[in-house]
Amino acid sequence: MLKIEDKLGRRFEKLRISLLNSCNFSCIYCVDNEFDENANLQPDQNGADKSISVEEFTQLIQAVHRLTGLKSVRLTGGEPLLYSNLYPLIENIKKLGINDIRLTTNAFFLKENAEKLVNAGVNSINISVDAIDNKTFGKIIRRSDTSRVFQGIEVAAKAGLNIKLNAVIMRGKNDSQIVPLLDYATELGVKIRYLELMKMGHLYHSENGLFFPEKEILSTIQEKYEIEEMKREHASTAHYWRTSNGGVFGIIANESTPFCHDCNRLRLDSNGYFFGCLSNAHGEKLMPYIDNEQLLAEKLKGLLLLKQAVKFHGSELSMRNIGG
Ligand code: SAM
Ligand code: SF4
Repeated sequence: MLKIEDKLGRRFEKLRISLLNSCNFSCIYCVDNEFDENANLQPDQNGADKSISVEEFTQLIQAVHRLTGLKSVRLTGGEPLLYSNLYPLIENIKKLGINDIRLTTNAFFLKENAEKLVNAGVNSINISVDAIDNKTFGKIIRRSDTSRVFQGIEVAAKAGLNIKLNAVIMRGKNDSQIVPLLDYATELGVKIRYLELMKMGHLYHSENGLFFPEKEILSTIQEKYEIEEMKREHASTAHYWRTSNGGVFGIIANESTPFCHDCNRLRLDSNGYFFGCLSNAHGEKLMPYIDNEQLLAEKLKGLLLLKQAVKFHGSELSMRNIGG
């Protein structure tokens, strides 16, 4: 296998795929305006025709896997449970010998998919839940009823999926929900990760007045619990702490505690463009090179060189395009 590594020793080991860039939610940090036409999207009406085909996704993953020996693939979007060819794609990825397949979802369609995901061999899922309070949560995702998210989480937990919750914390929007979210996760026996708001898409040129830093998340939790920091795993996006009542929470602090130095992620969007770094909007189509190992390796090395040395600087691409 050709060595595709940069001078910091970073390699591509994890692939994140944005299966489609459409979504039935319009979260305020991800989508500029409300997408009325998307709010009622159902699986199978998902605009998957705008994405490259399952065969193309498979060919691209296979070619990259041959050169990099991918350890895991995360399926995301947009909303991956809206992608009509999700299960055939998972089957194809398994056939390539990649068994660690994960998914990130808003959980709206999780109730009806949890069992299917287990049967398809998906190991773990990340679920976005930005508040416990319906009104607060609804204003963030721009929907009036958030109950399906919680039903989805509970069904997924019962089905045996390994779950992590993700909450983007924003000043004045949901910072009041930090402790209620932690208590909910602890009761359910799952980890929660708080994300610092990232300047992506329509937020790229904003003042970022909503930004709520790691140290304030920590002090909010410390008002209620004693906490103990845990050891960070290699290439982990989050730092984790244990609380005095047995909960575990993480913080993904792009701004306060950047983690670019050992980043091992490669991204693929729904149009077939690969991205080496979240902070670099340059995408590369690799389909023309899948049968030429030498050229493909050079292209991948080029993408690796786009990684930031220290920290994320924002991007004009929205997370739902590049795959969160
Ligand atoms: N629709 C799925 C979901 O929401 O979980 C998957 C795609 S979403 C783009 C993936 C993750 O990106 C979510 O956890 C979401 O909260 C996060 N995200 C999107 N925009 C963000 C931003 N500007 N800053 C921080 N996190 C963001
Ligand atoms: Fe949809 Fe996820 Fe973006 Fe929210 S964060 S709009 S659920 S893609």
